[in-house]
Amino acid sequence: MLPPLFKRAFIGLGSNLSDPGAHILKAFAELGNLPQTRLLSCSSLYRSEPVGYADQPDFINAVAEIATALAPHALLEVLLDMEHRHGRVREFRNAPRILDLDILLYDDLTCHEHGLTLPHPRMHERAFVLQPLHEIAPSRIIGGHGSVGECLEKCAGQRVERMEE
Ligand code: ADP
Ligand code: MG
Repeated sequence: MLPPLFKRAFIGLGSNLSDPGAHILKAFAELGNLPQTRLLSCSSLYRSEPVGYADQPDFINAVAEIATALAPHALLEVLLDMEHRHGRVREFRNAPRILDLDILLYDDLTCHEHGLTLPHPRMHERAFVLQPLHEIAPSRIIGGHGSVGECLEKCAGQRVERMEE
């Protein structure tokens, strides 16, 4: 049971520049230090091939589960701020990035407004999101798409490797 007013959310993390694994591990710790937020669990780190724009290094991806009393837009704001503090510069779509933080799921909320879409609109078709999410929440339902496990079965062609500790 979560404390009153706290909601469970899943955050997708990705990085493929300047020691990506270190950025992800640091971001796990920072998620736990956000205001009104606790870190509940973290997946292993996974290595994946870039999607969309292929001429860039492999990505390191992971998923974190948090409990937060921040409202969805407030959570997005602190995550974008965290990306910025890691030195992320926005160039073009699917460009290499030092740190990408996406809200995958926020409680059972569906939202399409002011720069925030929930569940994250592409998560159900991306093995690099589903594989780490499956490690920590295999039977979680992704609104309108079935369970994490069912979505993952449909992504069989995508190569995602769990990294050794
Ligand atoms: P992507 O993660 O799709 O590669 P960006 O990280 O550049 O793209 O994000 C672009 C914008 O996507 C953000 O500024 C944010 O407003 C918007 N966005 C919409 N829904 C979400 C979500 N669920 N999580 C994170 N960002 C989101
Ligand atoms: Mg993003």
